Amino acid sequence: MAKKKVLFVTSEAAPFVKTGGLGDVAGSLPEAMREKGHDVRVVLPEYSQLNSTYKSQLEHVTHFRTNITWRNEYVGVNKLEHNGVPFYFIDNKKYFDRSNLYDNPDRHLQFILFMRGALEMLSEIDFKPDIIHCNDWQTGLIPLLLKDNYKRYNFYRDMKTVFTIHNLRYQGIFGPEIVSDSLGVDPAHFYDGNIRHDGLVNFMKAGIMYGDKITTVSNTYASEIKTPYFGEGLDYALRMRGDDLEGIVNGISFDENDPASDKEIFANFDASNFQGKAKNRRALQSFLGLEINPDKRILSIITRLVEQKGIDLIKHVSEEIVNTGLQFVVLGTGNPEYEDFFRDLSNRYPDQVAAEIKYDFTLAKRIYASSDFFLMPSQFEPCGLGQLFAMRYGTVPIVRETGGLKDTVEPYQDGEGSGFTFKEYNAHKMLNAIEAAADLASKPKELETLQKNIMKRDFSWDKSAEKYLDLYDDIIVDEKPEISIV
Ligand code: ADP
Repeated sequence: MAKKKVLFVTSEAAPFVKTGGLGDVAGSLPEAMREKGHDVRVVLPEYSQLNSTYKSQLEHVTHFRTNITWRNEYVGVNKLEHNGVPFYFIDNKKYFDRSNLYDNPDRHLQFILFMRGALEMLSEIDFKPDIIHCNDWQTGLIPLLLKDNYKRYNFYRDMKTVFTIHNLRYQGIFGPEIVSDSLGVDPAHFYDGNIRHDGLVNFMKAGIMYGDKITTVSNTYASEIKTPYFGEGLDYALRMRGDDLEGIVNGISFDENDPASDKEIFANFDASNFQGKAKNRRALQSFLGLEINPDKRILSIITRLVEQKGIDLIKHVSEEIVNTGLQFVVLGTGNPEYEDFFRDLSNRYPDQVAAEIKYDFTLAKRIYASSDFFLMPSQFEPCGLGQLFAMRYGTVPIVRETGGLKDTVEPYQDGEGSGFTFKEYNAHKMLNAIEAAADLASKPKELETLQKNIMKRDFSWDKSAEKYLDLYDDIIVDEKPEISIV
């Protein structure tokens, strides 16, 4: 396979700044592709939230000015290398020195600046990628900007785009007034409907309509989003682009998430040296003020507390979950009503329920390592990474069969399979799955066998990184001019 040059454009990347799964992917997929010999580089905004240890490592590369229609803005490019991957940071304090990442009223300007900065940076640093890999709405205009404004220059002419949907629910929707005020593309693209949905500008739709290839993060989600139920209003656009839409399941970094060597967890362990798992459980019980009891098994969730994640199902049968005898650990932030619900549950059952309402990377790892079961009853789930981290740390997933959860967790039956699953979005179906898990908890030998088995499954990036590289090849090759001998 010829060596490829790729620019991976993302609004977040671990370990620099992360709100969810996209951050994990951007922090690990580029490295996996580089390990296969390709020149993959990442670009993201330089938010003020960037961890200070990394801030001090940044090297200034270049700066220039760009236009957002009538605005002329500064773009700084700073760089650092992490695990062998060059990360470029687009700097502009006016747009990225904010208290939150995505919820700002002028977020269209923030990300138009980011997208233009990322594209214009390329000629400044003389990096000419074959592929610009865009991710979610924050990068959705890139394929169109490239086509309308940059391809006229030789330097940009052969670049191809891949647009990956990590979550179709968040689309980047703005009023039509931004067409002339800030978009900087031909207004015809709005009037012909290609970047418009329901009368509004839609960055996600722009990515879907103009990306050379579209991908999403699991096979099942790739089929689901072509239906009205999962399509978030854009199913018709996805059906139109169906031939160019592919599902490639996410992986996780097996090096950075290795229970045998992870420094963040209470005790190291692996499938052949499994006593450490119980040590972690005991330490977590003590750390969170739960009853310290080796016979008590832990069920956990680590998630954004939003409707998508099936929190309503948990609320509906929370007393029944407590009655299973499992200890219940919640780590998450989000909707204040959900946050209060879990605070209250833990106040009522302090020995049995712990609610950690915060974002805490280290605690997340400790919970993955210390739990016996990990619950993800999502309404929809493009891929889901929690279940993959859980299995890596020997924690049995309990999931609803949707999207990537369906593709990565095999129903457990007669000693085969990897977790407990249920189909319908229904609290009692979920409860049945939790009860089946609690039943297994009463058979420690069987539970331990399952836990050891799931630790041996391969959810590393190896295969999926190869699939992205094949996909890149398709567009690089497909579009080569035909040679005519006449
Ligand atoms: P999504 O991208 O929809 O948020 P994923 O399951 O794909 O869901 O990824 C969620 C990621 O965010 C996982 O790495 C999970 O561990 C992490 N995470 C979610 N909430 C928290 C939290 N409160 N503290 C630490 N990590 C969290």
